[in-house]
Amino acid sequence: NKTGGNFNVTLIPGDGIGPEISESIKAIFSTAKVPISWEEVDVTPTIVDGVSTIPADAIASIKKNTVALKGPLATPIGKGHVSLNLTLRRTFNLYANVRPCRSIEGYKTPYDGVDSVIIRENTEGEYSGIEHEIVDGVVQSIKLITHQASERVARYAFEYASKNGRPHVTAVHKAPIMKMSDGMFLRACRELAAEYPEVKYDEDLLDRVCLRIVQNPAPYADRVMVMPNLYGDILSDMCAGLIGGLGLTPSGNIGRDASIFEAVHGSAPDIAGKGFANPTALLLSGIMMLRHMGLMEHAAKIESAALTTIAEGKFITRDLGGKASTSEYTEEILKRLRA
Ligand code: NAD
Repeated sequence: NKTGGNFNVTLIPGDGIGPEISESIKAIFSTAKVPISWEEVDVTPTIVDGVSTIPADAIASIKKNTVALKGPLATPIGKGHVSLNLTLRRTFNLYANVRPCRSIEGYKTPYDGVDSVIIRENTEGEYSGIEHEIVDGVVQSIKLITHQASERVARYAFEYASKNGRPHVTAVHKAPIMKMSDGMFLRACRELAAEYPEVKYDEDLLDRVCLRIVQNPAPYADRVMVMPNLYGDILSDMCAGLIGGLGLTPSGNIGRDASIFEAVHGSAPDIAGKGFANPTALLLSGIMMLRHMGLMEHAAKIESAALTTIAEGKFITRDLGGKASTSEYTEEILKRLRA
């Protein structure tokens, strides 16, 4: 959806630190002359028939633009509140959750050379929400796997692998135990592998991948890992831990009807309004979004300005061990973009 040569993109600033870090992203994109017009929407839940829902104009904006950048949303605790993140996932069929984790030069962690990409099935598996008590003291929770959803996420993984210069897909599974469900997931992956002969394909067990990545992440730097929902949830947090955690990890929710990019962290109420939140995770999510839209040069230029600022270490935020405020860090990136 374009107006006057610019792409229209929905921006949900979100709660807590959301508005502060969104301001930083807007300034950076504007200085880098990214051809985007932001359509800012409020998703403060409205109560309809006693249940909280996302305002209709926010949904309409994402539907129309098909691409959105989203700040963190605080899920109100209490009756009648469904997680807004879950609502967005369902509304827009966000079937693939993409979580890249790359070591950032200048921010030392016990691990160097981490560069993993996890693609998590986002709509079913252990998250299908089908649970019941059979008799007192015995409950059953259904892990639902469909060929259709497995194929859809596998296709996305192979496409991602061939378009992003990582021509190697590893399907991560527990098929020796979940013979039918993970077995079907693997079958879908194998079918796709036959369609993409230029992409190397193999399979590995979830437990073995966990063990190997924490021993040496380097061999995972050239590939894309695709897996059912719960495995992806856990493995991607583990990888985020290897590169230093929440201030730095972006994500993309790729959908049939729209794609929504967001930082992995929440609204950080403990530091909201204080002006020292780290906008990097949201910025990296925005960079993923630009690549998704085909704006490769703008993405590369902004990424380089942000990563060199962090590597230099003079103007980094407190969570990374620096002293800079959100605006001082942002200003340093802007300087590099103007140079
Ligand atoms: P959180 O991620 O908001 O915060 C955890 C810790 O990390 C806090 O100490 C916080 O100050 C710090 N932190 C997080 N992001 C940071 C940043 N960009 N810069 C500097 N420090 C940062 O997790 P939480 O406290 O468990 O959750 C707070 C709220 O966020 C809850 O309402 C939760 O439901 C919501 N949440 C939303 C999302 C989302 O919208 N995708 C994700 C997770 C949590």
